[in-house]
Amino acid sequence: MAVLEQLTSQQAIELEDKYGAHNYHPLPVVLNRGEGVHVWDVEGVKYYDFLSAYSAVNQGHCHPKIVNAMVSQAQTLTLTSRAFYNDILGRYEKFASEYFNFDKLLPMNTGAEAVETALKICRKWAYEKKGIAENEAEIVVCENNFHGRTTTIISFSNDPVARKNFGPYTSGFIKIAYDNLEALEETLKSNPNVAGFMAEPIQGEAGVYVPSEGYLAKAKALCEKHNVLFIADEVQTGIARTGKLLAVDHENVKPDILILGKAISGGAYPVSAVLADDHIMGVIRPGNHGSTFGGNPVAAAVAMAALEVVKEEGLAENAERLGKLFRSELNKYIETSGIVNLVRGKGLLNAIVINDDEESDTAWNICMALKNNGLLAKPTHGNIIRFAPPLVMTEEQLLDCVAIIIKTLKEFE
Ligand SMILES: *Cc1c(COP(=O)(O)O)cnc(C)c1O
Repeated sequence: MAVLEQLTSQQAIELEDKYGAHNYHPLPVVLNRGEGVHVWDVEGVKYYDFLSAYSAVNQGHCHPKIVNAMVSQAQTLTLTSRAFYNDILGRYEKFASEYFNFDKLLPMNTGAEAVETALKICRKWAYEKKGIAENEAEIVVCENNFHGRTTTIISFSNDPVARKNFGPYTSGFIKIAYDNLEALEETLKSNPNVAGFMAEPIQGEAGVYVPSEGYLAKAKALCEKHNVLFIADEVQTGIARTGKLLAVDHENVKPDILILGKAISGGAYPVSAVLADDHIMGVIRPGNHGSTFGGNPVAAAVAMAALEVVKEEGLAENAERLGKLFRSELNKYIETSGIVNLVRGKGLLNAIVINDDEESDTAWNICMALKNNGLLAKPTHGNIIRFAPPLVMTEEQLLDCVAIIIKTLKEFE
């Protein structure tokens, strides 16, 4: 079979089904092109993308500036490994450190790797700076978290599908309720071995749970009081998605350790990063941590271009403005709706909760109907649908999408 032979959707699905491990359950749509807020399937049908590859494609599909940076760097130098210096990594590290206001950046490739990196930095800091006895450090995490898929990360997940039969699990984690300052304070007070508190500023995979106003700022203050590092996993919420550059910016919080991934490359390339100031990042010395591809020249070029696009095109401001419009339009509909209970979110990270139980397949069926009406979204649970379009959307496009969503939901009333 020629590699470039045009497949039908059915053929492409059958190939993945037969030769690919079944670790996902995709919506049955086969895409082969993307531009801005749109994607096309192999039959040429055009859709609005309302997932943005889990918020990796904030800058829109195939953004020309990002693609040009990638192509031009790929034609020059793709990989040196960190055994040698290259002439672009340092420029990227300076650019991104100043962009996010930290002293230093540690480059990785995927979100999960960046989370692992943050956990390792936090533990090392605990032993070398805070003075916790070796192997006694604990990191506090939240119930219903999503931080990725490695063995350590799923060790502190409470999603049975992600965890079951992958044990034995990594120890050293304490799970507390999300958006609960009493639980955090109690844990920090009663446990002198806590080194860090890691949280998503909005829980994305859990169903776009927005914590109470003030939660992040107060959690950070509690961490400071107890000499505990506040670790923000902004892999999904970061890079303008929620209407600010970072979701913690809504409460003027500077995390001790910041974790970024997904949209730091605009979806063009796997790029992730951990940022911290010198008194924390300084615990990492040669040989402690690394990655063959982490910080490679293509990643560095792509990430710089992707971050420039965010500022040049005012994506945070656009997300803030369109997010408000989206929720207010949907709320008007929800007042009279029997099928949707509520819409919640910040910026262009939103979700609707369907009036049905978690085990139902209503959300899936609604996503199938949305697809048939020209809009792609994916349930996060049986009764929750996340809506996260690329941030380059215009107001006119957004209103068009709202009309598609409401028309589709009415089919289910
Ligand atoms: C997606 C995500 C991750 C994991 O990123 P990968 O690139 O899939 O490894 C980690 N944390 C959060 C909050 C995420 O949304």
